[in-house]
Amino acid sequence: MNLGMLRLFKVVVFLLLIQSSYANVKNIEFDLIKKGTDDDNTLLVVGGIQGDEPGGFMAASLISTHYKITKGSVWVVPNLNFYSIIKRGRGHFGDMNRKFAKILNSDPDYDDVQRVKKYISHENVKVVLNLHDGSGFYRKTYIDNMRSPYRWGQSSIIDQAQLDIPKYGNLEEIANRVCQHVNAHLIDKEHVYNVRNTNTKAGDKEMEKTLTYYAINQGKAAFGNEASKQFPVYKRAYYHILALEEYMRVMGIEFERDFELSLNGIKQALYDDIYISFYDDKIKLPLSTIRSELNYFPVSKDGKINFTPSNPLMTVLKNDQEYAIHYGNVRLVSLRPDYFDIDNDKEEIELNVDGIAKRVNFGEMVIANKKIFVHDKEGFRVNVIGYTNKNQRNESNLEIHKNEILDYYSVDKEGKIYRIEFYKKEKFAGMILVKFEENISFANNESKEKKSTASNTM
Ligand SMILES: [Zn+2]
Repeated sequence: MNLGMLRLFKVVVFLLLIQSSYANVKNIEFDLIKKGTDDDNTLLVVGGIQGDEPGGFMAASLISTHYKITKGSVWVVPNLNFYSIIKRGRGHFGDMNRKFAKILNSDPDYDDVQRVKKYISHENVKVVLNLHDGSGFYRKTYIDNMRSPYRWGQSSIIDQAQLDIPKYGNLEEIANRVCQHVNAHLIDKEHVYNVRNTNTKAGDKEMEKTLTYYAINQGKAAFGNEASKQFPVYKRAYYHILALEEYMRVMGIEFERDFELSLNGIKQALYDDIYISFYDDKIKLPLSTIRSELNYFPVSKDGKINFTPSNPLMTVLKNDQEYAIHYGNVRLVSLRPDYFDIDNDKEEIELNVDGIAKRVNFGEMVIANKKIFVHDKEGFRVNVIGYTNKNQRNESNLEIHKNEILDYYSVDKEGKIYRIEFYKKEKFAGMILVKFEENISFANNESKEKKSTASNTM
């Protein structure tokens, strides 16, 4: 296929995707997320120019979801090459980071490159930071294959030492300051950061095509930050975040972060604190321990799945008969749809949880120890997914114990979270979740009971 055909192909695929799986909430175009108060001292952070460098794009997404900018302005593009991120490849239509000097308007990446160029050259933007994951460990002198001048991991990249602009033109000094900061917080001294000057102007034909060199030519201070691909994603993100925060300090940008800057803190922020809502919060799924497949998932009869993710790297795509929730490079879960008309009303549900009365809204999760009881509500039918006593069509006004619900139907891999669905005639009205946090001392007995219940009913 030539480039024109490729672009057409992408457009067709894209239109099909929009048609089949998006309401109007989000698609696979990249996001620009503006944080703080817009001013002419803006830091532009770019993640995901290459789809297989998750340390960079996951770190960028954390700035958008877990930071409050209390002074100054930060713009985040966490998912520049979103299509390639979902496809888990460097560049589905070639390397996007070689398309900034010249690009044919028939290139499938053309629109994205033009759009990000507009942000880079915006008068408010003064520093551009492009986040990458590179192989091995950059060292100024050759030590071995993995630690050498030919490797990129653990480095701060500049195209030249100086740039003649009013502020932040001392690129090398700034990059050195950032390396020093990162090096003061290394997990291991082998992870040391060094400045790598590519001397692009002196004739580096490859680097001339990159986003940072484009920025330099627009009179912007531009830096690359590289974390090593030898690390797991959260460790790469740790080093990116260290560097990112120091760039903010260099620019006098102030921030609050709502997690601890440690490997564990990053891990939790990236993987524990994630969820997605559907149909205006009628359903809210926690995703950290989600099963890889959920059956009979309520989807609107027209096939549109209206969703709001907790992170810009998340999206929902339809493939064949399933809807897949993607998060960065990971496909978290496939939803096997059950099609309904969706009721628009918001309702409050009365429950009894371990003997205590509670009122909850659709989309909420209640924590129970042993049992739940959903009060009858006129006009509604209640379905506790996986409840073993199937004598009645409506499962309200029943005391339901955890051991009466089959593990297999849990939303999560650990068998703790279950769906309680509400229907108004044949319309889907909403879902709440119940999470059973059992008393640890009963845990063994409970699991035995569960097994015997399951075998009795199957
Ligand atoms: Zn890269």
